[in-house]
Amino acid sequence: YNWCTSMKVFFIGFGQAGGKIVDRFIEFDNRTNGSSFRAIAVNTARTDLMGLQHLNFEDRVLIGQTSVKGHGVGTDNDTGAQITFDEIDIIMNAIDRKGIGDTEAFIIVSGLGGGTGSGGSPVLARHLKKIYKEPVYVLGILPAPEEGRLYSYNAARSLATLVKEADNVILFDNSAWKNEGESIKGAFDRLNDEIVRRFGLLFRAGEIGQLGIGEMVVDSSEIINTLRGGGISSVGYAISEVINSAPVEKDRSFFDRIIGRKQIEERRPEDKLLGEDKTSRILSLVRRAMLGRLTLPCEYTTTSRALVLVAGPPDDLDRKGIEKAKSWVEENIAGVEVRGGDYPAQSRYVAAVVLLASIADAPRVTNLLEIAKETKATSERIDEENVLKLDESIEPLFE
Ligand code: GDP
Repeated sequence: YNWCTSMKVFFIGFGQAGGKIVDRFIEFDNRTNGSSFRAIAVNTARTDLMGLQHLNFEDRVLIGQTSVKGHGVGTDNDTGAQITFDEIDIIMNAIDRKGIGDTEAFIIVSGLGGGTGSGGSPVLARHLKKIYKEPVYVLGILPAPEEGRLYSYNAARSLATLVKEADNVILFDNSAWKNEGESIKGAFDRLNDEIVRRFGLLFRAGEIGQLGIGEMVVDSSEIINTLRGGGISSVGYAISEVINSAPVEKDRSFFDRIIGRKQIEERRPEDKLLGEDKTSRILSLVRRAMLGRLTLPCEYTTTSRALVLVAGPPDDLDRKGIEKAKSWVEENIAGVEVRGGDYPAQSRYVAAVVLLASIADAPRVTNLLEIAKETKATSERIDEENVLKLDESIEPLFE
């Protein structure tokens, strides 16, 4: 059954956002008795590493001790990149110590607008690719505009470098997920839940649970093949309540814990009408996942490859529905490769995850690149933000 296990992922949380999100992935893996995820966190700031709750202490790696003495690099991503370059061995040793085992993919998680993760991630991606044959993906967090132009500028530079170094960059846009009137910091916990829910489900697909494996199992090679075009990707998600299933035993369903009751979207009238028809319900759920709020809002019609995952009680998973949903996705994206399958999980919910890989048009990314150019043009006026130092507009962090 080797071919049908879930993806073995090695996470590297880089910087504050990256560390916190990876900490959540480990919590998720622990709570759900998984063993698919390994992780370390890397930072130049000691307090950020100390604040993590689920990673072992030996898996928290402090770099730049001589230069910044555990105080971080602020928003200076050039320094973040330089320290990472100089101390890459410390990071690689930590990865070795943890053990690669049967890792199938590396995922570097980082906020692209700051200093440590923004500057360090591209350097680490390049180095990992040199040493290992496994793909290196980045789960990158885009800053909200209110964080200031410097964050946008940093994110644009980091992103420009990452798309060259990593095998794929999957983005989550903080600004698309923050509620009106909510502070960005106040939103972090909620946003991190949204992130872990989507990617946790995607990367655990294919596991052999109490309910066995799916009829149309999604294995790790299908995720890897979907992402193989590189560039930038985005993820959609939707859930609905199971209609005619027996209630599941409380606390036994790991799936319920991921999704959580509060996350239920209001059922739309069309879902009620289709309630008896499993095939149409699955099609409608997948449509909602793709047409609803994506991790990175984008022009989904420009997607090259896609993967559709439908998880829930076996009774509610319908092969025909998944096939129809795959065809529907295929009709609506630029490419023709759409993979997909099911993931049996004991739950009161059915969830759909749609991975839209290698998209060609995302307004937020275009906007970030524009801000970066303007910032360069007006850098004298915002000198106090320390932008002058970064002399090339959206030049990569390094060549
Ligand atoms: P670094 O430590 O220098 O890498 O920088 P940070 O990770 O503190 O910040 C970089 C970006 O990540 C900023 O745009 C923050 O808004 C964002 N960020 C920081 N913490 C979190 C978090 O917990 N969740 C999310 N979604 N974004 C965060």
